[in-house]
Amino acid sequence: MQIIRDIAMLHRAVTALKQGGKSVALVPTMGSLHDGHLSLVRMAKRVADHAVVSIFVNPTQFGPNEDFEAYPRDEARDAALLVEEGASLLWAPDVATMYPGGHNTHIEVAELGADYCGAARPGHFDGVATVVAKLFNQVRPDVAIFGEKDWQQLAIIRRMARDLDFAIDILGAPIARDSDGLAMSSRNAYLSDAQRAAAPAFPAALNAAAQAIAGGADVTETLVRAEAAIVAGGFDSVDYVALADADSLERLRAFRAPARLLAAARIGKTRLIDNLAVG
Ligand code: AMP
Repeated sequence: MQIIRDIAMLHRAVTALKQGGKSVALVPTMGSLHDGHLSLVRMAKRVADHAVVSIFVNPTQFGPNEDFEAYPRDEARDAALLVEEGASLLWAPDVATMYPGGHNTHIEVAELGADYCGAARPGHFDGVATVVAKLFNQVRPDVAIFGEKDWQQLAIIRRMARDLDFAIDILGAPIARDSDGLAMSSRNAYLSDAQRAAAPAFPAALNAAAQAIAGGADVTETLVRAEAAIVAGGFDSVDYVALADADSLERLRAFRAPARLLAAARIGKTRLIDNLAVG
């Protein structure tokens, strides 16, 4: 597997990979890879000839009081995992390569980025959309793969690809979970043993709520009960638990398919997100 940090070298390497009509799938990540990321790499290898993985902890998607500095980084370990999965290329630019001095242009995400994580993290999705657009232009993949774990992000990227005419298929990959139901996340590394033991209360509350709503329970009451269950389970606060149209992300007061339960909650200093299909 080639590890590349320079844009001109990346262009040459991707051109070589594409020779003979071979296809390339891109998996954008921030590193600190776990089995959820690796499931995306496996999907990349199923749908394309070459898997290209990017690792870039993107400063513009972190707020001023967020964990950019503390975000876990271990490129050597990540690279070894990617070699095992058969990735062809690791694109690992530094911040100065991604944002050279004078960088002056960004993408602004409108309605799809306003609610949920966008409300709690102003500017987050503008940073995500801008860096993903740059990664698309840098790598020029045929396909790009994103996890359903970040459902709002996936919806925003699909819409961006359509709005800005990126000729790239956007695929979503199912959420990888630990055996107790907690969605895998690089941020799970922040949890103390006691917090990690409490954390499955979050997906458990969402599961119960999804089943209740699909079974005809009142949506507003069920969401309130789910928030209470998350706090009773050891979380400090709930940013949101919402029933949304799975595509437009519009909030739903009554169940209609396709719907998704979207949630974010805080335990200690760690903010976890999760989501589930309803019905
Ligand atoms: P991140 O490194 O957190 O930016 O995530 C990189 C990609 O991996 C994103 O498309 C995420 O949605 C995806 N991802 C992260 N965790 C999971 C998971 N547990 N299951 C599936 N995809 C995931």
